[in-house]
Amino acid sequence: MIRLDIDLTNASVHGDAAFEATLRSLSDGLVARGDANVDAELACNRCLEVNTETLEVPFEQVYRYEPQDADDEMRIENGAWIDLEPAVHDEVTLSLPIVPVCKPDCLGLCPTCGANLNTDPCDGHEDDSDSPFAALKDLFES
Ligand SMILES: [Zn+2]
Ligand SMILES: [Zn+2]
Repeated sequence: MIRLDIDLTNASVHGDAAFEATLRSLSDGLVARGDANVDAELACNRCLEVNTETLEVPFEQVYRYEPQDADDEMRIENGAWIDLEPAVHDEVTLSLPIVPVCKPDCLGLCPTCGANLNTDPCDGHEDDSDSPFAALKDLFES
């Protein structure tokens, strides 16, 4: 288990990620490959509803005794230990949707009253002052 705390604009992960990894040895290091399972909280970009979704995130990380590429490779600590957390953390961060939607046909919020149109459809707002009848109504009342 790895504890993750990730906050993006519309997505966040706070909790433990379960993961499985298999190690394959290289001549001077190893490759860790696996899958992490995390519960991500995704805020719909249209209706703002927050849903928890379980994501399965594949990751792969090269570890070497002497890393040749500091961006892509990590060091094997003390010749014996590898730290999987940064690899899992980075892959999970990359896998989070930038613009999540709760469902492809989400109707979003009414721009006038803010109702969630998926669950609470409003009948429109004919009475608004920008309606062509507003001026007449004002005349009759005065
Ligand atoms: Zn939505
Ligand atoms: Zn409305």
